[in-house]
Amino acid sequence: MKRFYNPVYILLLTVIFNFNVYSQMFGQEPTERKSNFDVQHIKLDISVDPVEKFVTGKAFIKLVTAEENFTGFELDAAGMNIKNVELDPNGPMIISYVGKTKRTGYYLKTLKFDYNKSKLKIYLDSSYNLSDTLNFIIHYNTTNPEKGLYFISPTAEFPDKRYEVWSQGEGEDNRYWFPCYDYPNDMATTEMLVTVSSQYQTISNGVLKEKSDKLNYTTWHWVNDKPHVSYLVMLGIGQWDTISTSWDGIPIISYVPPGKKSWGQNSYRQTADIMKFFSEYIGYRYPWGEFRQVAVQDFIYGGMENTGAVVLFEGSVYDEKTEPDYSATGLVAHELAHQWWGDVVTCKNWNEIWLNESFATYFQCLYREHELGKDEFDYNIYRNGNEALNADSLSRRPIYTRSGPTANTYDKGSVVLNMLRWMIGDEKFRKTMNIYITQNQFKPVVTKNFADALHNAIDDPLLDQMPANLTWFFEEWIYKAGQPEIKADYSFDENTNELILNAVQVQRMDSSSVFRTPFPIEIVTEKGTQSITMETSSEVKTYRIKLDGKSLNVNFNKGNKILCKLYFTKPKNDWLYQLNNSTDAIDRITALNGLKDFIDESDVVDAVKQVMRNDSFWGVRYEAVKVFAGSENPAAVEHYMKYMIDEKDSRVRRAYLLNLKKLLDNHPAEKENISVLQYFLTNLINYETSYYAAADAVTALSQLLPKDKIYDAVIPYIEMDSHVDIIRRSVLTALDLSDDPRSKEILLKYAVYGSTARVRNIAVNGLGSFLNDDEVINLLNNKLAENTRSTQGVILSLLGKAKNPSSKPFLQKLYDTSNDERFKERIKTIISSY
Ligand SMILES: [Zn+2]
Repeated sequence: MKRFYNPVYILLLTVIFNFNVYSQMFGQEPTERKSNFDVQHIKLDISVDPVEKFVTGKAFIKLVTAEENFTGFELDAAGMNIKNVELDPNGPMIISYVGKTKRTGYYLKTLKFDYNKSKLKIYLDSSYNLSDTLNFIIHYNTTNPEKGLYFISPTAEFPDKRYEVWSQGEGEDNRYWFPCYDYPNDMATTEMLVTVSSQYQTISNGVLKEKSDKLNYTTWHWVNDKPHVSYLVMLGIGQWDTISTSWDGIPIISYVPPGKKSWGQNSYRQTADIMKFFSEYIGYRYPWGEFRQVAVQDFIYGGMENTGAVVLFEGSVYDEKTEPDYSATGLVAHELAHQWWGDVVTCKNWNEIWLNESFATYFQCLYREHELGKDEFDYNIYRNGNEALNADSLSRRPIYTRSGPTANTYDKGSVVLNMLRWMIGDEKFRKTMNIYITQNQFKPVVTKNFADALHNAIDDPLLDQMPANLTWFFEEWIYKAGQPEIKADYSFDENTNELILNAVQVQRMDSSSVFRTPFPIEIVTEKGTQSITMETSSEVKTYRIKLDGKSLNVNFNKGNKILCKLYFTKPKNDWLYQLNNSTDAIDRITALNGLKDFIDESDVVDAVKQVMRNDSFWGVRYEAVKVFAGSENPAAVEHYMKYMIDEKDSRVRRAYLLNLKKLLDNHPAEKENISVLQYFLTNLINYETSYYAAADAVTALSQLLPKDKIYDAVIPYIEMDSHVDIIRRSVLTALDLSDDPRSKEILLKYAVYGSTARVRNIAVNGLGSFLNDDEVINLLNNKLAENTRSTQGVILSLLGKAKNPSSKPFLQKLYDTSNDERFKERIKTIISSY
């Protein structure tokens, strides 16, 4: 699954947006769940009414018993009506049995069951043996499930919404719309027979085997004939335009909102090339028969990797104006990478989720490298590394963790895989990936399976040596937390012509360990370049390196290969040398950061200015702006404003806008003439060609203007449509900063369901300034039940703060109707705080 995150627009996607959903979605059990059976095949035969939000039908489950004296078993089934459970002694159920065969109750045995709206316990008619195959039929229905299957419909305020249904099973939510063993340590083949009104299309896993019409209804029969875990079962119902292409005979079909076909063709144009690249890179062909991806309304994440049937958020289809700022290629690549990492091999329990997410994140970067080159790849990894460092500074946890996915699961893991690739080399890295998937295909996996594949790949039988062992690498990077913090310095001994390089690890050892991973070092002299690797430890290590003359630059952790915090004492001129001469963008960015301490000195101002204006890679210019904005040098403001206007790449213009406040804080005199600034920024918004830069100009305005001036300055842009409502969101966030009472009406307007979740959540959050207002509390109370989980999370926080007695019955009702234990716990805490 992919969070709403993209390096290019991360700055504006607020945290509120993912509010709490993220930590709630996985893992109830701290240890791996066990069952007394092994599911072989799941077949759903259901009718779905998108308008009435109703699901009714049968779940067929074929299993093999995993114990002697098997007399009963338990399935997950949340908030359903279970009508009947039958044993079909005439099994085995096979894929070609599509439910059309006339079978009467004569053959079927009705079984006793207990159902408590959460677990379905089924009692057998007699005791069965180990490894017996049994077939069950569960008759059930459910209306508007709390999670798992989402029904989108038009509302009074937003009548243009289309009826649409889509599922989101990961982590353990498919149990809300069909009974199943809802845990990733069991794989089964699956089948979906879904009957819907004929005006709709359906999408599910695998291959469409048959489609039959009866009156105004159509039954679609989907078959996924290779095993996968239950959270990957997908259902989509709606009306879409389709775009078909293929790779090597594999059909690739993209479903986009009606009328958006030409946008979709552009947004998803790399899909076939991505499939080709991954198939060839891993040496393992895309295995799922066909590939579908659908852009749905109001998706709660960025994307979800259901087997052969990916769901994407609607913003992944966009107009030309969006293109310079946002590309869906990263998202499409992430979900396609999961078709191997997550779907062919799936984490066996949630502690191992990095085996899905870090791999998908890393392969997304690898495609980036293939498509856009080394600088873009390095910059991606650099940003992922920064995410990991930020997350670590908030809460230190290992990648392997019981506490749910974090930035570690995605970002840090991708950097760790890149370090591994650097250590063992491209060829062995690819070999590792191939062995790992070939030996474990269609099985749940744990980290040891990957480590075994790695050892297998790096063990060279032609060399007469002990088998290589990288167990320590997993210990320090996967099972233990943190990263090295390195203090380093160097000097030159003119008598011996030696460079003396000192380094020591200074991280807190109580929550981390001493890292063995070596660092790449590059030393430049007049006559050439020397590369070495250096090991470090918790005691100062000194390397003496013979040079042919005094060094011009020492680049510790060249290419930013190893995730670390580096405190490097290095002369200004060496940083400048690195900035002006490095051919790797990432080394120039490191130099920019090294020059932060000297940013008021005029030679540094000049050098950074040059880079800001002329560097060939946009990411370096972006980072240069950030550093330059910290300068108190009197000439800084004039250059900054001029370069901002001249900058052609809107991604870099955004850096100027987002760092404008920082710059002006260093030059308070310039802030005095605020009306000139306001005029400048307003013009910029009106003529800006980029949605994202315009949104950032709104943000800059709100950061610079006094509170009482914000409303009038930003409100003209509230109706401006833009990609993922980026401008509207900036306006709503700005209103939250203003203290104008008129903001309330606007926030109320966008706080209702139908407005997209990302807008709604910001608007609802903004209402937090009006918790003494009855109208606001009233809206929050009444909208609590009808919203999706992320908005409910925001509302709950506000009600928890407001503690208005009128909310209590609404909270109690939500508590009573929910079947989500963790969510109920949260509501209970709030009720009891009243
Ligand atoms: Zn993912």
